[in-house]
Amino acid sequence: MSITLDPWGYAAIEDYEKLLEEFGIKPVKDMISLYSLDHHFFARNVIFGHRDFDTWLEKLKAKDNVAVLTGFMPSGSPHLGTAMVYEELKYFQQKGAYVKIAIADAEAYAVRREDRGDLIKRGVEFIAHAIAWGVNPEKAEFYFQTNMTSSYYRLIQMFSRKVTEAEMRAIYGDVSPAKIMAALTQAADILHLQLEEYGGFKYVLVPVGIDQDPHLRLTRDIADRFENELGLKRPSSIYHKLLRGLDGNKMSKSRPEYAIHLDDPIELAEKKLMNALTGGRATAEEQRKLGGEPLKCMIFELYMYHLVRDDNELRDIYSECVNGKILCGECKRRAISKLRELMITHSENYNEVINQVEKYVKKPSF
Ligand code: SF4
Repeated sequence: MSITLDPWGYAAIEDYEKLLEEFGIKPVKDMISLYSLDHHFFARNVIFGHRDFDTWLEKLKAKDNVAVLTGFMPSGSPHLGTAMVYEELKYFQQKGAYVKIAIADAEAYAVRREDRGDLIKRGVEFIAHAIAWGVNPEKAEFYFQTNMTSSYYRLIQMFSRKVTEAEMRAIYGDVSPAKIMAALTQAADILHLQLEEYGGFKYVLVPVGIDQDPHLRLTRDIADRFENELGLKRPSSIYHKLLRGLDGNKMSKSRPEYAIHLDDPIELAEKKLMNALTGGRATAEEQRKLGGEPLKCMIFELYMYHLVRDDNELRDIYSECVNGKILCGECKRRAISKLRELMITHSENYNEVINQVEKYVKKPSF
């Protein structure tokens, strides 16, 4: 059975290897030592696939014009899944890439039908959280889609001339006028960086969750069609696995009880974590005898993605778990103490940033 990825949906993905085959995405693991990719997301196969990432890395190495672009739909508040993208932006920025972040307020307004005032307020908060997580605002640019100038909107009109409804259905499955508009707007987000008006041509990398790949497939096709006319080139992309919710399904802004949000009060975050699904056995005796199953465990997933940076420490936790040396209660308490530290630091940074963030982004006036 073929897999459908829905960038506006909430599917949990079981088989990442199958996705590589089905969509012609290349594995990242062969490139790790070749390009000295020293972030734990690469070593742990959290970032697992790419399209033309090697081309982009070559340009980065040659100090050519490279940029990283991503967008956030400002509905709900950012959670630890969103923070994976913040983390990737920070990493590539430290490697020398120019970073640009879109707040997809036009998309959220059309597809999610959210209130404009709320969207603008939350868009500013998404940016403040990115800065608090470590994205350097002095070396980045932030924008709201609805604040863009006419040549960006002109791109959307031009793209609409060369995309058919059948093609949109083949990529996205079910489509509506709002989704078509949102998809073409995202293509303009990615490709406008190559226009003269926006600083001239750049090789663009888009780091995203794998559920966003349909947008990349469309954008790459569009770039091919406008290569001669506008000098556009296909963007590169990397894909990370989706951090699951605390119940084992996809972490999502629409199911706040199963996600750790970056603005959760610490006591609430701890309570959510205490109730998370683990890979523990039915009884303590069984767990001591058989060991736990860390790969089914949401606590271990949090260790792997965010809470433990040191590979040796992660290996020790894994080994304690599978050998029955630790029970889930104790293991959760250890995770809570690490989460507390992360959230306190983030919240202190956020409180410093939130009152200054408007100097880095212009809020839409309507
Ligand atoms: S011991 Fe820790 S890692 Fe192992 S299943 Fe329990 S909570 Fe998960």
